[in-house]
Amino acid sequence: MRNNERECVARWEHAFEADPAEKEKYYLTVAFPYPSGAMHVGHGRTYIVPDVIARYQRMKGRQVLFPMAFHVTGTPVIGISKRIANGDVQTIGLYRDLYRVPQDILDRFINPMEIVRYFSEEYQRVMQKCGLSIDWRRRFITVDPQYSKFIEWQYAHLHEDGHVVKGAHPVKYCPQCENPVGDHDLLEGDRSEIIRFTLVVFQWGSAKVPCATLRPETVYGVTNLWVNPDVTYVRTMVDGEEWILSQEAAGKLNLQDHTVTVTEEIPGIALIDQTVSHPLSGEVSVLPATFVDPEMGTGIVMSVPAHAPFDYIALRDLQQQGKYTSIRPVPLISVEGYGEIPAKDAVERAGIRDQNDPGMEALTQEVYNAEFSRGKVFEKYGGKPVREARDDVAALMMERYGSIPMYEFDNRQVICRCGGRVYVKILHDQWFLEYSDPCWKEQVKTQLERMALVPPEVRTEFDRTVDWLKDWACTRRVGLGTKLPWDPTWIIEPLSDSTIYMAYYTIAHRLKAIPAENLTPEVFEYIFFGEGNPETVDRETLDRLRNEFLYWYPYDYRFSAKDLISNHLTFQLFHHRAVFPQELQPQGMVVFGMGLLNGAKMSSSKGNVFLLEDAVEEFGADTVRMFLVGSAEPWQDFDWRNELVSSTKKQIERFWNTVDEAKEAEGTSGIDTWLASRLQHRIESVTAALDSFQTRQALQEAFFGVEADLKWYRRRLPEGASGGAVMRDLCRAWVRLLAPIIPFTCEALWNDIGEEGMVSFAPWPTVERARISPEVELAEELLARTVEDIESIVKLIPIEPKGISLFVAPAWKQEAFRIVAASTDKTRVMREIMQNEGMRKRGREATDATKQITKLVLKLPPELVKQLVASSLDEQAVLEGARQFLEHEFGVPVTVQNAEASTHAKASGALPFKPAIVIE
Ligand SMILES: [Zn+2]
Repeated sequence: MRNNERECVARWEHAFEADPAEKEKYYLTVAFPYPSGAMHVGHGRTYIVPDVIARYQRMKGRQVLFPMAFHVTGTPVIGISKRIANGDVQTIGLYRDLYRVPQDILDRFINPMEIVRYFSEEYQRVMQKCGLSIDWRRRFITVDPQYSKFIEWQYAHLHEDGHVVKGAHPVKYCPQCENPVGDHDLLEGDRSEIIRFTLVVFQWGSAKVPCATLRPETVYGVTNLWVNPDVTYVRTMVDGEEWILSQEAAGKLNLQDHTVTVTEEIPGIALIDQTVSHPLSGEVSVLPATFVDPEMGTGIVMSVPAHAPFDYIALRDLQQQGKYTSIRPVPLISVEGYGEIPAKDAVERAGIRDQNDPGMEALTQEVYNAEFSRGKVFEKYGGKPVREARDDVAALMMERYGSIPMYEFDNRQVICRCGGRVYVKILHDQWFLEYSDPCWKEQVKTQLERMALVPPEVRTEFDRTVDWLKDWACTRRVGLGTKLPWDPTWIIEPLSDSTIYMAYYTIAHRLKAIPAENLTPEVFEYIFFGEGNPETVDRETLDRLRNEFLYWYPYDYRFSAKDLISNHLTFQLFHHRAVFPQELQPQGMVVFGMGLLNGAKMSSSKGNVFLLEDAVEEFGADTVRMFLVGSAEPWQDFDWRNELVSSTKKQIERFWNTVDEAKEAEGTSGIDTWLASRLQHRIESVTAALDSFQTRQALQEAFFGVEADLKWYRRRLPEGASGGAVMRDLCRAWVRLLAPIIPFTCEALWNDIGEEGMVSFAPWPTVERARISPEVELAEELLARTVEDIESIVKLIPIEPKGISLFVAPAWKQEAFRIVAASTDKTRVMREIMQNEGMRKRGREATDATKQITKLVLKLPPELVKQLVASSLDEQAVLEGARQFLEHEFGVPVTVQNAEASTHAKASGALPFKPAIVIE
């Protein structure tokens, strides 16, 4: 670590400890990390962007709370610890080689709490190295006894209000761990959903042949079944009945409340050409299909070629070989936009060649969606819309024809962190958070409407999540965490014990001093609701805790990555609604994009990560911060590339040198007013960008914008001058504008330029309206554009220039410019111009000029056009005043005159704000 970084980390150690104050508060939180491995640069942005906002709000004069804690609930560290104890080569490799845990510490990892201890220390250390302005007094882990008391109180509350219910539900389950698993526990398939299929049961002699379907209404159109001839099926007894299934399906049904025993194996080939029947589809044959996957459903598929593109194509492929030619698709649904046989239509329209065509998935989805949203079953089957008929037929089959539900994942590969396959299991006696409750959903939706969501596009995703959220298994048999207070054989799982801890942060540091056994539910009732009369904690302490909570709560913004919308970010809204009153509900959320490393998704388990600490060591903390902030807006995905990070480092060095040199700046110069005026705009834009969390935009303005202004300023200084005292003012503001983003550099510079105290607490620069000079800025804009035009002409001509003549547009063209700019319909502008007596007299000259002026007005930034119209810029005086500068720039004599005073052929081409240029 560099010296100035080490110095800052020491100065900041306790600086951001925030207690209630007279000032307005700003409370922001980030989803707390699970300390089971080292932080990588992807984590870096998750915490650095909120830190930029925290630092900005602090400088704006707010009392800012930015706390941090560690989430250790659940089984992940237990699993890691077991794998290390068992000598698992991959896990040991990850911890020893990628995370570089010293061997003596690694040996201790057979105790899961040692992993937690080691990495939470490391997280804090690396976060401090990155300059995160966190109040570390509040740090806790989710198995601290005081925190458990808080969770017990929360769950007693939820239970009392009927939000936690007991029942039987399908959940993700790892047989190897003998435990239900949440998204946190998965290596793969963490966004998979549980889907309910209906088993349509066909009869084959004494045996039943079940097919899993999402479209039970299509049973009327079944023309055959598909069986994979290469797969070995099994004859089983399912709840006392004889069923034919794939081996995999037998195992799955066993976990779904059925008693399944296998009696014999049947090769798939033995089932081909057998006849099966169902009361709703009659007798059909079993046909061979190698696309049938024994891992999907029962491994036997019912074929509806009129409505399922896969079935249609598979049948056509067989028939092209001359087989089963008597089978015809049997349509049963009419849908607008498709012919009699929708699957045939879709396949032919898409030009699908055979069943291996990559377009098949999408096509299947297209027909499925069209039929579900607009389709109707034929009159003879009831004539109802598909969405109604589906439920009716399913209910009928459950009641009369032996159908049962079967649960599957929408995504096939769901793998537990232990490495085992995850299945759907029906759990009994399980505790569920009843997120399906429509009243609770409604309350959350109302709250969402009141909240600020950044970026606004995430609102639909939140609404959708609230709609589809089903009951959530909130307890586990094993793992770290808090026991369910009324049924202590259960432990509350990680996504369920991390929903209102933002409230806990407000008092976390004070609770550490109170023995956990004194933190009764009554104590929390008093702190959070001001109710009751608890006796285990003295009244003075209780009132202090309550006041601190009320000062900070509700939180202002929560920051998290977008993959948490479908669980954590929405869950916490549900819990806040259930526990806290209206005035304490969350106010806003900022949702982040994902991090890429050299274009690929960062993933610790796949080794595609760059450790944050390595980045800080190699490039410096400010470089890492500036790169992470500058490469994309928070909600966009960002890509870490070492070669780009290096150039960021040079930019910071440039900034340092400029500020350092400006310390000596003295005196004044004509261009000073311009620089001061520009600075006011930069301050305004940086402030606006940070107010809307556009950290990238803020950096663009604060760094590159100011740098561009300085470049022009220096160019315009008289020969030999090195910048006036205005540079010192500028740097005083500049250091503060960049302080939230590169605080280490700015902290050092702040004292270097003679300011007292820490820049972290210096007042944010404010716009001084009196220093804005629109006329001066316009004049410089004219000059800069003219210089640019001259440069591009010089580049084009083959001769060495001997002199430059500038011709400024006459007054009547300025008048035409005003008319054109004011005209709302640019196609009618010529008519407007010609209504003017003076213009009309000029004839062709006026029409030509109008055409060119119209083009120019459309090309210039609208804001600039507005300023030009409002100003009375004397172009000739401006250019004349800059004649010395121009002569110095181009090394030749320069003359400036009114175009009308010249007979030069090119003079007539002069336009307002665009003088004609002649180079000889
Ligand atoms: Zn497992």
